Amino acid sequence: MIRLENLSRFYRAGASVVRALDGVSLAIERGEFVAIMGASGSGKSTMMNIIGLLDRPTSGHYLLEGHDVGRLGDDALARLRSREFGFVFQQFNLLPRMSAVEQVELPLVYQHARQRRRQARAALARVGLAERARHRPTELSGGQQQRVAIARALVVNPRVVLADEPTGALDTATGEEVMQVFGDLVRHQGITVILVTHEADVASHADRLVRMRDGRVVEDTRRRVLLG
Ligand code: ADP
Ligand code: MG
Repeated sequence: MIRLENLSRFYRAGASVVRALDGVSLAIERGEFVAIMGASGSGKSTMMNIIGLLDRPTSGHYLLEGHDVGRLGDDALARLRSREFGFVFQQFNLLPRMSAVEQVELPLVYQHARQRRRQARAALARVGLAERARHRPTELSGGQQQRVAIARALVVNPRVVLADEPTGALDTATGEEVMQVFGDLVRHQGITVILVTHEADVASHADRLVRMRDGRVVEDTRRRVLLG
């Protein structure tokens, strides 16, 4: 589904060039649960941004469902992005004065109020928060707040969720709670999850570990063979 071919992303920094990604080739199939690890500055976020169509590579190819996205204009890219990808970040980016269900409705700008509410409630149910729809962020735990953010990513029915250090602001137990939600999305809801983490415990929830160093993939291991 996602195919990166000899992909590079360079940044100019004064007289020098930062090779944020330096010849990455990687294929991710539908339904995979992939953890990306690597030291700070190794290119993890750069790769996530390119996969999520928020950024373009300097060179190389990105094929999404067999289509070279490098050939698409900005409008087509934005449409594809909003249809295919949901994003979750370390900071939940919730608005303090809105209830959970109102936050989750936000991406549904083009729909009627009743339809928005119905879809937002369904998305909250997918992360186990149906009972918390009316609560504001201050009335929710950190784990519940991140689950609201996951519901907001899911409400447009993306096929892929990209999560950049989604447990980075959470304690271990709460991080586990959030990882259970990602696991459920992959195993029971047909979502592909690609997540960045610093912690081996967090990565152990995934089926595949991709390790990066200096803009390159230095390890790619399938951790679990799912039988049956
Ligand atoms: P990670 O997420 O693994 O910490 P990043 O992908 O954020 O790493 O960054 C990879 C490298 O690219 C780092 O050296 C970083 O400083 C550099 N970099 C990232 N974004 C930019 C940018 N917008 N401008 C210049 N350099 C950048
Ligand atoms: Mg990063």
